[in-house]
Amino acid sequence: MTEKAQTKDISVPKTMKAWVLGDPEELRLVEKPVPEPGPAEVLLHVDAVAICGTDVEILTKGLPAWIQGGLPFNKNFTPGHEYMGTVVKLGAGVDEYALGDRVAVEVHAGCGRCERCRMGMYTSCLNYGLNYGEHNKGHRANGFTTDGGFAEYAVNHVNTLIHIPDEMSDEEATLIVTAGTATYGLDALGGLIAGESLVVTGPGPIGLMSVAVGKALGAQPVILTGTRDARLNMGIRLGADHVINVRKEDPVEAVKRITGSKGVHYVMECSGAPNALNEAMDMVNRGGRICLAAFPGEPVPVDLAKLVRNNIYVYGIRGEGKSASRRAAALMIQKRFDAKIIHTHTFSLEELPTAFKYARERIEGAIKVVLRVS
Ligand SMILES: [Zn+2]
Ligand SMILES: [Zn+2]
Repeated sequence: MTEKAQTKDISVPKTMKAWVLGDPEELRLVEKPVPEPGPAEVLLHVDAVAICGTDVEILTKGLPAWIQGGLPFNKNFTPGHEYMGTVVKLGAGVDEYALGDRVAVEVHAGCGRCERCRMGMYTSCLNYGLNYGEHNKGHRANGFTTDGGFAEYAVNHVNTLIHIPDEMSDEEATLIVTAGTATYGLDALGGLIAGESLVVTGPGPIGLMSVAVGKALGAQPVILTGTRDARLNMGIRLGADHVINVRKEDPVEAVKRITGSKGVHYVMECSGAPNALNEAMDMVNRGGRICLAAFPGEPVPVDLAKLVRNNIYVYGIRGEGKSASRRAAALMIQKRFDAKIIHTHTFSLEELPTAFKYARERIEGAIKVVLRVS
């Protein structure tokens, strides 16, 4: 495979176009050296990259990006983590991939040497951001602690790559990591959820993918709550059996009505609304489980007595651990749901500021905005 791959000639330039973060809210398009893949790494030509809510957080507040032991501003750092591309150069010892392979990427490689990474929880690496100077544990999370995909080229560890078939478009492949986050959450909740009931609160990208993956895994019924009918209708197209517009109907009462007052087995909380956990506790039955994939900006009061009395389990998830993205990709390759429904807008790499504006202000109903990189 390697031999054949290396006979293919893919020329790689010395420098590339890349966006870098200056001060907060400041992105600059610069010319940077094309990075070199090390052992167990490949160089990708980035073909497409999606914008995520977390990219907006990094642009404004810096965190959760962490570069050289501090905030990522003015450090020549390239953000962007939801990308896909083509393998154009192999690091030493790489035979898992060949030149010309199309791949999607997971964000987090982790450090590979801490307790959590060894357990497959590389999104919760204990050495997060330790990849510099005396503190070098080799941590990688592209677009967070190492350079990401708002650029023509990026280096990825082979553990973070997922083969994608020719039939899947570049744009769809950028959505794998979002579906992977939903899959990680549903895995935390129960994994084998066929025949069990699921409420998803909040029809953002992760909420909509939670509906799709939950349905593909056999959950029944799948109920989606939200405030906007257009998003709720997308939820129906992705497999929701019931949708509840919380502006028109009390969501707890609606869930009780749909489930014959029993409540559901699982709630996947993707809204970040201040009262979402309290409401989720009223939606699950005793012994039920709640996964928090979003959170409010400020601490909020929670009725802990209700949690304890009813033996309710609450899980927090960070990103897309335990190879969840690979499993999400498998569902998408099998066409178990059409993730493309949430891709609404496309721009070029050079148009990143406009793309951000569309994503942040939800212009023309924007959900997932994707940049194509030529
Ligand atoms: Zn993201
Ligand atoms: Zn680690």
